[in-house]
Amino acid sequence: MDPCSAIVGINWGDEGKGRMVDLLTEDFDVVVRYQGGGNAGHTVINEYGECVLHLLPSGVFRPGVVNVLGNGVALDPENLLAEINTLKEKGVKITPDNVKISNRASLLMPWHRKLDVLEETRLGEKKFDTTKKGIAPFYSDKYQKKTILAGELFYPDVLRPHLNDLREWKNLILTGVYGADPVTEEEIDAWLEKYCEPLKPFIQDTGAYLTDANRRHKRILFEGQLGALRDLDFGIYPFTTSSNVLARYAPIGAGMPGVNVERIIGVVKAYSSCVGAGPFVCEMFGEEAEHLRQIGGEHGKRVRRVGPLDLVATRYGVKLQSTTEIALTKLDVLGKMDEIPVCVRYNLDGKEIDDMPFPALVSRCKPVIKTMKSWKCDISDVRSWWELPQEAKDYVKLIEDSVGVVIKWISVGPERNSIIRRG
Ligand code: GDP
Repeated sequence: MDPCSAIVGINWGDEGKGRMVDLLTEDFDVVVRYQGGGNAGHTVINEYGECVLHLLPSGVFRPGVVNVLGNGVALDPENLLAEINTLKEKGVKITPDNVKISNRASLLMPWHRKLDVLEETRLGEKKFDTTKKGIAPFYSDKYQKKTILAGELFYPDVLRPHLNDLREWKNLILTGVYGADPVTEEEIDAWLEKYCEPLKPFIQDTGAYLTDANRRHKRILFEGQLGALRDLDFGIYPFTTSSNVLARYAPIGAGMPGVNVERIIGVVKAYSSCVGAGPFVCEMFGEEAEHLRQIGGEHGKRVRRVGPLDLVATRYGVKLQSTTEIALTKLDVLGKMDEIPVCVRYNLDGKEIDDMPFPALVSRCKPVIKTMKSWKCDISDVRSWWELPQEAKDYVKLIEDSVGVVIKWISVGPERNSIIRRG
């Protein structure tokens, strides 16, 4: 099998992966999402304007690129259909020729979202501040073997009793544990008709499709969601997502377990941001945080916590992702600061450490800060390494030396072409 490539997040997510996939898809034939679901929000700015992608791979804008939602994805029909319709209205072509959904992807059901909301409400102050998209209930059901595969939509005689069994079980939890209303058969029938029927033409055996594409030497790119620190097994558990975001997992979630991921592009943001609860060692507060949020445009639906670049977390993320090259995004933002703090190490109970500690210890760490000079000017029009101010080059070099992987792209703006290519 030909080796494949991946674009993945190195930090907590929101690094600008969508923007990099949108740029680099000119070199690929197929883009595959292999995990996660509607909890992703990849922002892409191109000839169609500003588009936020939740489930669709960021290759949808490129004519000729085939986009696959693999078996590892949390397939939320409601969310996906809304996204398809929004993009179609903007003039983006979406047909079964360029979007393919795995028949082995599990369906995220209406009860998953309900349970997410109910559990977060029950937790009160201790909530995880989830996206409330039903992701954790979905993946726990998948591991319990209590989900419906997309391909079952083609077999009503299998689907009907399977759905009834699951609904009966879910209603015990909804009513008995949370005191909520049960889900009726009529509600589910209406949901199937409204959201699943229109998706049926897109569903197929994408594993077979990808294997064949690979045999024909098509260039395949895996698009990760979130960042390494949110990986279920290796992130800051339990403040992780409920799936494996790592590039090494991509072939499994994509549907071609035997393939090798040779080129892994890790996306690192020039400063840190994190959404949701959990330890965030570098967090800034007050006016300082508000300033960074404002210059970085860090305003999502949920509050984005911000701070300086965390080299401990970045080194860990780069290693976890087996990163072979780095894309550094949002460097332009830091030109608006007077000086640039960077976290080079952690202080854990009085001892300085270079490596990420066990999750339970992360909240006890304090950042060890080094202050770098800012270039204090707008670099958003710069397109070559040589034109960058020396202070910006020093900043890039500091990261490169610290993580030991080459920074091949430097993004200096959200638009497709606001990029510096090195080497
Ligand atoms: P993703 O989930 O990793 O794709 O990242 P998001 O889409 O959540 O966040 C990236 C945000 O930063 C989006 O609003 C992008 O348009 C924007 N962005 C990406 N790269 C750059 C950059 O180099 N400079 C600036 N100023 N904005 C960028």
